[in-house]
Amino acid sequence: MNYIEHLFFSLAVNGVVLFVLAFLGFTIEITPLLFFAYFVFTLLPDIDSRHSKASQLLFAALSGLLLYSIIEILLNGFTLLSVGGIILAISFFLIHLAISRDDKFHRAFPHTPSFGVISCSAFFLITLSPIATLVAAVSFLSHLVADKNVQLR
Ligand SMILES: [Zn+2]
Repeated sequence: MNYIEHLFFSLAVNGVVLFVLAFLGFTIEITPLLFFAYFVFTLLPDIDSRHSKASQLLFAALSGLLLYSIIEILLNGFTLLSVGGIILAISFFLIHLAISRDDKFHRAFPHTPSFGVISCSAFFLITLSPIATLVAAVSFLSHLVADKNVQLR
């Protein structure tokens, strides 16, 4: 499945889950955070593939962080934030380079439920939003389920 098919499948599954919750009486407020959770966590497992959309977005975000930190140093000198930004960006570049693969056999730790639990837990601790975390978990699981239907090995 390519990333667009993953996004459509995840959108359908999330739609059903949220509809059932609303039907059961839960108040579902559609916020930008829900869309963020849906988009990021649907694509997240493919972070282990070097040429995936998830890796491209990570690369763009880290490049932005690196550029921002360099501009911050040029304008305001060395600060904890700017030096931390550079260290963080370079660290993630290297970690991604070390764990991602270039071939179709990329499905590693990011394609496991364990990685989903860890990343969704971190997302909840940052956002403190149960509904956004539910969307994140459903999105992540929809990716794993969809991938199991496509045999690459
Ligand atoms: Zn995948």
